[in-house]
Amino acid sequence: MKLGCSYFGNRILRHVAQDMKYLAENHFTYVVHTFSENDFRFYSGAMKEIIRISKECGLFTCIDPWGVGRVFGGEAFSEFVAIHPDVCEMLSDGKPAAIACLNNPAFRKFIHEWTDAALATDADCVFWDEPHFYLSNWMGGRPNTWGCRCQYCQEQFEMKYNIPLPNEETATVKEFKHYSIRSFLQEMINHVHKAGVKNSLCIIPNSVASDSALRDLAGMDNLDDFGTDPYWFGIKRDVREYVGESSRKIAAVCRELGREGHIWIQGFKVPAGREAEISTAVREAVDAGIRNLAVWGFDACAHISSIAPEDPAKTWKVILEAFKSVKDL
Ligand SMILES: [Zn+2]
Repeated sequence: MKLGCSYFGNRILRHVAQDMKYLAENHFTYVVHTFSENDFRFYSGAMKEIIRISKECGLFTCIDPWGVGRVFGGEAFSEFVAIHPDVCEMLSDGKPAAIACLNNPAFRKFIHEWTDAALATDADCVFWDEPHFYLSNWMGGRPNTWGCRCQYCQEQFEMKYNIPLPNEETATVKEFKHYSIRSFLQEMINHVHKAGVKNSLCIIPNSVASDSALRDLAGMDNLDDFGTDPYWFGIKRDVREYVGESSRKIAAVCRELGREGHIWIQGFKVPAGREAEISTAVREAVDAGIRNLAVWGFDACAHISSIAPEDPAKTWKVILEAFKSVKDL
């Protein structure tokens, strides 16, 4: 059983050392370190040390482009989109959004730079975290808009389908966006693979249009593991049903394609009195055949007040117990 935990919000090495030792002592086998634009710009040397310390504690190390270009998930701002408004997605209302377009060559160049810095930390794996086009319901989104209608998306769409990019987000537009994400990721995954480092991809649940599109992403060359993060607190879904069905889908596609499947367990925004649902989620994933589980995040995110559980101490205790109960599978 592989058990992982995300770690962020602290770059003070003596505290990192204490926390990594604690994770290893509590049955975690790997850690996902966020490497945001802020880290990339200001903490690259410290990140290399953080990876070294984590490895010394026996942990497998992943590095995460947290919020980079706002193309990836995460509670982190993007300096890149502020400095380069011309690289942002253009929405259906004719105005830009604060997210880089992954079809824009300048953003791809920037991600190559980020990736080279990530590789320089000597992490074992790059964790591609929720890559996406603009989401109207996420941080600063505008209702009833979609992207991207930038110059590069228009050109590439027309080249592929021999028609202009429609004004509506049609099924063909969604297919184009799927292939755009795939092509963007494949370029980066190949680059990481060439450096002898592993690639892991986590997609937003139900963000792909069909099972064949899911298989298409999971089957990318040089991808080592594939998963999703069915966070159920905050949406009106039953934990058993939602985590169970997401896990079965991931387990089936990974079995078919020879990938390792992973599932993230929600350890943040947990309402008081519902902590036990975390154990249910762990059990559902394990029963579906998943043998790689991770929790977001360290200490039940007690220190990130915007998403902290109502009772972080109790939440973390339940997480530790639930993970311990499956560690020998
Ligand atoms: Zn675009």
